[in-house]
Formats: sequence, C-alpha cells, structure tokens
Amino acid sequence: MEIDVVIIGAGVVGLACAAESAKRGYSTLIVERHESFGQDTSSRNSEVIHSGIYYPPGSLKARLCVEANHNIYNECDRAGVWTRKCGKLIVAIVAEEQDQLEILYRRGIENGVEGLQLLTQSMANKIEPEIKCFSAIYLPSTGIIDSHQLMKSYIVEAKENGAEIGFGIEFVGGERKKGQYKLHMKDTNGEVVEIESKYVINSGGLFADKVAERFGIDIDKAEYRLHHNRGHYYSVSGLKNNIISHLIYPLPHAHLVSIGIHMTIDRSGRMKLGPDMEYLYDSIPESEWYKFDDSRREKFFNSVHRYFPSLKLDDLSPDQVGVRPKRKGSEDNIKDFIINEESEKGLPGLVNLIGIESPGLTCSREIAREVFKILNN
Ligand SMILES: Cc1cc2nc3c(=O)[nH]c(=O)nc-3n(C[C@H](O)[C@H](O)[C@H](O)COP(=O)(O)OP(=O)(O)OC[C@H]3O[C@@H](n4cnc5c(N)ncnc54)[C@H](O)[C@@H]3O)c2cc1C
Repeated sequence: MEIDVVIIGAGVVGLACAAESAKRGYSTLIVERHESFGQDTSSRNSEVIHSGIYYPPGSLKARLCVEANHNIYNECDRAGVWTRKCGKLIVAIVAEEQDQLEILYRRGIENGVEGLQLLTQSMANKIEPEIKCFSAIYLPSTGIIDSHQLMKSYIVEAKENGAEIGFGIEFVGGERKKGQYKLHMKDTNGEVVEIESKYVINSGGLFADKVAERFGIDIDKAEYRLHHNRGHYYSVSGLKNNIISHLIYPLPHAHLVSIGIHMTIDRSGRMKLGPDMEYLYDSIPESEWYKFDDSRREKFFNSVHRYFPSLKLDDLSPDQVGVRPKRKGSEDNIKDFIINEESEKGLPGLVNLIGIESPGLTCSREIAREVFKILNN
C-alpha cells in the first residue's frame, strides 16, 4: 500500500493533521494503536480554550495559541462543535502577588492576547462575587470546548476528503528507502503490515519520543525524550455548581512549571478542580497511570479554598487523571512544542510533534497548519 501522508496517532492533534492533509488533496491514513480515537491525553484534560497569556513571547506556544484563540470559535461554530467563550480570571490572592500579576499581564499584552484587563478586587467581585482576591487579570477570550465533538469534527472533515483511519494498528518501526518511508505496523493479532508513504507525521502524544526513536533518531541528543507527568482532577458536587460563570486560576508557579490548581466549568456548569503535577516513575506501567490517588484531597482543598472560601472538603469527589508528555523531568522551566521536519537528520518528509502538552487541544488546528506550512516549503 502506498500513501502520501501517514499520521501516527489519532489524538486531537493527529486528527487535525488528517483533516488538513486530506483537505489539501493528499491521500491520508491515520494509524492508532487503540480501538478508538482520543483515548489518551485528548480525552483527559481541562477542555479550556486558552488565550496564550502564559507562554514566552516568540515561542510556538504563544504564537499558535493566540492564533488558535482568534480562529477557533468561528471554526467550531461552522463545524457544529460546542464552545463557550466564558472568560477567565487569574487572581492575585494577596497584595504580595500584585507584581507577579502585572508581569503576567504585560506578557499577555506582548503576546497579543485579545481584550486583557487588570481588575481591582471590587471589579473582580462584580463579575465573580464568590471569589476572594486582591486583584485579577480578566481574559474575555478564554473559553471551554467539547473536545470529543472537536475530534469527531476533524474525523468527519478528514473522511469527507478521503482519509482513512486504521484502529488497533501500532506503528513499530520505519526506515527510509528509495525516497519513500517503509513503515511497519502491527495489528491486534500481532500481524505485521507494511505501508509505504511519502510523508509521515509523528503525532504519538505520550509516546512520540518512542515513535521518533523507531526511525533511528537519538532522542536524547535531539532533546525529544518525554517524561510522563500526571495531573488529578476533583469534581465539585451539589450546590457549588453554577456558582461561578468564569474559569478561575491562581497565579502560575515560578518558571511556569504549572499553571496552578484551577477551577473550570463544563457545559452543564459542573465545576472541576485541577490538575496537580506528579512525575511518574518509569517503573509504573501504563495500566496504572490513570488510577486516582485520593490522598491529595486536602492539598486540592487548601489550594482552592484560598480564593474560593465557600468550598468545603466534602464537596470534592475524585474525577479524572490526565498525563502530560513533558520534555524535561526536572522542574526548571517551561518547554516549547517541537514541530520538526527532519531533513537535517536524513529523514526528509518526517515531521515529529514532540512535547505537545497544554495548550495542544486549543492549538490542534494551528499545529496542523504549521506542519503543512513546513512540508509545503
Ligand atoms: C491534565 C491535562 C490538562 C490539559 N488541559 C488542556 C486544556 O485545558 N487546554 C488545552 O488546550 N490543552 C490541554 N491539555 C493538553 C492537550 O490535552 C494535549 O496537548 C492534546 O490532547 C495532545 O493531543 P495529541 O493528539 O498530541 O496526543 P494524544 O491525545 O495523547 O494522542 C496521541 C495518540 O497517539 C497514539 N499512539 C502513540 N504511539 C503510537 C504508535 N506507536 N502507533 C499508533 N498509535 C500510537 C496514542 O494511542 C494516542 O491515541 C491538557 C493536558 C493534560 C494532561
């Protein structure tokens, strides 16, 4: 079988790549090891449409997120994907946090985030009376999205333009021969299938480093090695739901290692708290990654109670766990997305997408556009 573009991984980013690829007239195949799409990170996240305030100016994350935020609401409207531009507050809880809040505000302005405002305590409390803060940044362009619908819409678009998806097919190895890629796939019965393609997009999410390694790339030298970092969520039961109408975030941790345990809402108004951060030891098998560890309940309560005082410990119920593909294990600084075409490594037409953590859901379409901008050059 010979195909123009093979995409490895049917998460939200791989599916967006498939939609863009097929729209451009390439014969397109996505292969996915699971029996369905979006079983890993793409269905275990906060479902927030980010604004682009956090990321270093000039980074891919900043540029793609601001562009994505500008485009996503209209594009989702056209595709019948549910979104709500509910807006968000980032709060300085005490006066000592004001300087940090203003630094973040200036970064947002520099990144071109739309509609930013600095609010005093009374202005913030006019829009969110239950929140305790000294001051806040208001981000009217932040919103929430139904990620499952977004993935389905990419599949519909890809299929309408002729793309095919193979579920239960794992990419196990690949090499370049006579100007083509020879890709080895294994199906659920252990049968090996060979596919030839002109281009390959590695959208393997948590395992994108392993996929790159299977093309013979030295992932330590390339700085592609991924470290798995999980985050838990608690949902808030009962009366507290519908009490807030914006997303509420504390200030991010130093060097943006995490954006802090925040309060989000879903389309029914149900509140979710999280995620926290915990690196997973290599010895923990994938089957254990998503087990909920309830020992963190008090830590969550204490973090959120500081800015949402009516929260009670009993309001918290264990919800979901998501895992981030982090490019570095030590907690030093934020890492950018990698979107690399690998001609320099002797692998022309192979694009590796590495470290596609947050805001990868928001940026899925822009990442796909970027891939084809690079391939068409
Ligand atoms: C806790 C958490 C909260 C987040 N919150 C947000 C948010 O609010 N907003 C936002 O914009 N982003 C958020 N993100 C980030 C966002 O969820 C991810 O960036 C996005 O889902 C990544 O999509 P993906 O397609 O790259 O990866 P995935 O969804 O992980 O998909 C990769 C796919 O590749 C497949 N695969 C891997 N190896 C192989 C192989 N060898 N052969 C075949 N298939 C393979 C996997 O099975 C998987 O289905 C969050 C992430 C986490 C963890």
